Amino acid sequence: MSEYVAQIMEDVKAKNPAEPEFHQAVQEVVESIDLVLEKHPEYRQAKIMERIIEPERVIMFRVPWMDDQGIVQVNRGFRIEMNSAIGPYKGGLRFHPSVNLGILKFLAFEQVFKNSLTTLPMGGGKGGSDFDPKGKSDNEVMRFCQSFMTELYRHVGPNTDIPAGDIGVGAREIGFLFGQYKRIRNEFTGVLTGKGINWGGSLIRPEATGYGAVYFAAEMLSARGESLEGKSCLVSGSGNVAQYTTEKVNQLGGKVVTMSDSNGYIYDPGGIDAEKLSFVMDLKNVRRGRIKDYAEKYKGVTYTPIDPSKDYNPLWDHKADCAFPSATQNEINAKDAEHLIKNGVYVVSEGANMPTTPDGVNTFLEHKILYGPGKAANAGGVAVSGLEMAQNSMRYSWTREEVDNRLQFIMKSIHTACVDACERYGVKGNYVDGANIAGFIKVAHAMMDLGVV
Ligand code: NDP
Repeated sequence: MSEYVAQIMEDVKAKNPAEPEFHQAVQEVVESIDLVLEKHPEYRQAKIMERIIEPERVIMFRVPWMDDQGIVQVNRGFRIEMNSAIGPYKGGLRFHPSVNLGILKFLAFEQVFKNSLTTLPMGGGKGGSDFDPKGKSDNEVMRFCQSFMTELYRHVGPNTDIPAGDIGVGAREIGFLFGQYKRIRNEFTGVLTGKGINWGGSLIRPEATGYGAVYFAAEMLSARGESLEGKSCLVSGSGNVAQYTTEKVNQLGGKVVTMSDSNGYIYDPGGIDAEKLSFVMDLKNVRRGRIKDYAEKYKGVTYTPIDPSKDYNPLWDHKADCAFPSATQNEINAKDAEHLIKNGVYVVSEGANMPTTPDGVNTFLEHKILYGPGKAANAGGVAVSGLEMAQNSMRYSWTREEVDNRLQFIMKSIHTACVDACERYGVKGNYVDGANIAGFIKVAHAMMDLGVV
């Protein structure tokens, strides 16, 4: 670690105590950017790094709502408006009991570089609440979303800050949030993305993150003259990203053998084909059940519950070629990374945000596998959100093929930008440095142009 990185990290830790995920995300980026600052002393002089790690604005608010028993519940709401140098703040909302300021700051920080990589004019933000939609009735979720938006509406807008979904925020929640915004503001605008197709949504938005992560893997493979055809893949999670990752892997001739939720995972050596995937989609999106049911429905499948006493996740300990972590942050540690490599995995494309711990990342880099970090690999979701904003502004919608073609083009461009950046800075094959550098440079240039603001 250089002196400069050490100093930045010391300051970040002192100013943002008890936010380990934020420290982790910043450290990874600052280490990559150290390479850039040697060549660009003007960025250092203008304190670009010091400014980029400080959110432009942090909003925290009370979200009171009434449950079905008539009891008042109180949650905490957040919106981190991290950086708007290249466009309005853009990033999802996460509803999960683990949500806190540090987690949302890490996500907002990552979002700045990811959005920059998409080639579209979007700044970075993130928000959410410690509310847990699991086990709540539709009416309770609606009342919560209405209360959340009753505060959030004054901070967001189609030219200011455009939230979207993330963990725990899918089509149902976006609907309730949009309905309340529209009612309060008396205007129909593209203030949220991930909207329903009949009220301003874009085709391919639900699929975009998962499809994008698979397109990115396909790009990394194609650079070596290979494809996904016949490849065996490990997927974690069974939500939005995991579902469409599985669909696209199937379409490109691969086979997905695992899926999970926060209680455990299933291993299906026969592969989760289209028919089995539609069972998962109904189970998770409609019946809101647990992945364990999959093992009860299909023969030859094993279900393994989470064992908190283990220091590794057995999901990552199966023979395969590719892995698509698509659940949550820090779900692959160094031991998991070693298991993956031992089992033959040489492609990792991150659908989730920061799913690999720093030691895990180092293991991948040391073994020189094709490792696509979330910032690059899962940028397809926000890219299509950007395309949804463009369609809303035009009051027009593109066909499925048009959006999918643009998504593929964007994922290809991101791949090229990463490869070019790591070659230019002497770290060939390192997509982590490549993504951080390519994402940073565009934002840094804009910040220089905009003066000290
Ligand atoms: P969903 O809520 O649709 O699905 C999340 C999945 O991950 C569920 O299967 C959930 O299990 C599991 N999960 C969540 N938290 C944990 C945990 N702490 N431990 C184990 N499993 C967990 O979310 P998404 O699919 O939208 O998001 C998944 C990841 O992808 C997140 O990291 C998100 O930030 C990232 N991402 C999402 C984008 C999008 O467009 N949706 C865009 C870019 C990144 P359970 O059902 O038990 O909660």
